[in-house]
Amino acid sequence: MKPPAFEYRAPETLEEALALLAERPEDAKPLAGGQSLVPAMNFRLAVPALLVDLNRVAELDWIREADGGVSFGAMTRQRAVERSELVAERAPLLSETLPHVAHPQIRNRGTIGGSVAHADPAAEMPAAMLALGARFRAARAGTPEGRWIEAAEFFTGLFGTALEPGELLVEMEVPAAPARTGWAFREFARRHGDYALVGVAAGVTLDEAGRCARTRIALLSVGDGPVAARAAEAAMEGEAPTNEVVRAAAEAAAAEIDPSSDIHAPAEYRRHLTRVLVDRALTAAAGRAGEEP
Ligand code: FAD
Repeated sequence: MKPPAFEYRAPETLEEALALLAERPEDAKPLAGGQSLVPAMNFRLAVPALLVDLNRVAELDWIREADGGVSFGAMTRQRAVERSELVAERAPLLSETLPHVAHPQIRNRGTIGGSVAHADPAAEMPAAMLALGARFRAARAGTPEGRWIEAAEFFTGLFGTALEPGELLVEMEVPAAPARTGWAFREFARRHGDYALVGVAAGVTLDEAGRCARTRIALLSVGDGPVAARAAEAAMEGEAPTNEVVRAAAEAAAAEIDPSSDIHAPAEYRRHLTRVLVDRALTAAAGRAGEEP
């Protein structure tokens, strides 16, 4: 199928892009890498009357140091983030996660902002951003400085976000992690590059005594959006990350989710994968935290 007719505009500045979105907030859509939006338009699942192409807006394409952490413009390509040395140093979870997103050709076009704004429950970036405690800046015409939204409040359900009509996601910021923090990402997909049946982004911070001072676990493909495994995080709190403690946390994660069955996997299999992958991700993250000075 092909999409119905739509108007196409390609602004060169953020101000112009915001003005265009403000003209028709209900039926205009930003076009980023087009890797999800264009297929959705071809299937007529998305029928925007106006497409605002962001690909010429250079001021949305950057990676910067941010107070010990790292930040990105929304139009930064997934591949650029994957290859960034600054990201590898400041947010290694993203460097480890991005190779699991689709294929290199898709990551060359797909953007970090598009992935976050699309909020696919099977996507890796929303879960990684949730685990990292990232925050997102949304701007609109007249207030280009916009407002900041925490990842935990940003994802609101199936392909749903806290972005309002006329708002554009412009920036994402990943805070500095505490000392002695290790991160890990694990997923299971039938073929590399496929959407995962289950994925886990995990971070473990150890205190001086080697006990878990903070644990972050975010799951993908087990709910309507990225899912924070709070009971599993609590099971690690104050404990040394022994095999038994990690196994108990993995059990807690499997018990607290409510995955659905579909043609790809029954719910029980997703629960089993969650148990296995949370165990592996926490073990890897705790091991890396222990190696930190
Ligand atoms: P687009 O497709 O351009 O936009 C997606 C949506 O976000 C649209 O609704 C658009 O209006 C909105 N949007 C874009 N930018 C903004 C913004 N700045 N502010 C507000 N709204 C915005 N993804 C995965 O995570 N994991 C996978 O395994 C995976 N496999 C894939 C396999 C194939 C074959 C393909 C084609 C895609 C796959 N993807 C996968 C999706 C890919 O990662 C997309 O690049 C990503 O989901 C969307 O990014 P984009 O820049 O292409 O956004």
